[in-house]
Amino acid sequence: MALRLFTRHPAPERPEAASEATARPETWTPEGVTVVQRYANQVGTLILLFSADDNRYYHVVACLGCHYMETTDLDNAYSGGLELKAAARVANAHAATCRALPRPIPTRPDDDTARDQLRRCVLNGQRRSQDVRIGVSFFDRNRLTLQRTNEWIINELQRLADAHPELVRTEHPSYSRRAEYYLRPSN
Ligand SMILES: [Zn+2]
Repeated sequence: MALRLFTRHPAPERPEAASEATARPETWTPEGVTVVQRYANQVGTLILLFSADDNRYYHVVACLGCHYMETTDLDNAYSGGLELKAAARVANAHAATCRALPRPIPTRPDDDTARDQLRRCVLNGQRRSQDVRIGVSFFDRNRLTLQRTNEWIINELQRLADAHPELVRTEHPSYSRRAEYYLRPSN
């Protein structure tokens, strides 16, 4: 069954592009994340260490030059994500070796584009025979391009679950006031 998840629109007007073109990596904070530290690589290109999680427990390291991105602590088999200390180590290690020049800062997408991006990301995460939990951290790798708040993301997940319950199911666990979202298997 073909899912009509994506809306097509004419090329959007971007009245905000002029101001964003002048955004500088030194001060850029993508919407929806907290930039905790900035590192410079061997040629001065910035590497962001940010957290997208409300508790700032896990972090993401992202190079604004070479597309390097890390969300997990490879040295810690028990950890689900990068705690601050490990994230700093990872960022330093990358800064010591990377010589990539800065890429342009991604333009903040309009809502339709961001929604398409989120839905593509969800579909890409689908597995053949098991449910996949979709929380905010599911989108860690997309936060620099998505540039939306956690609230916006959760709201979109709810819309997706409402429109496509065959794709995303919702649970309301007794221990939490928040709904949880699960991506159903592809078969
Ligand atoms: Zn790099």
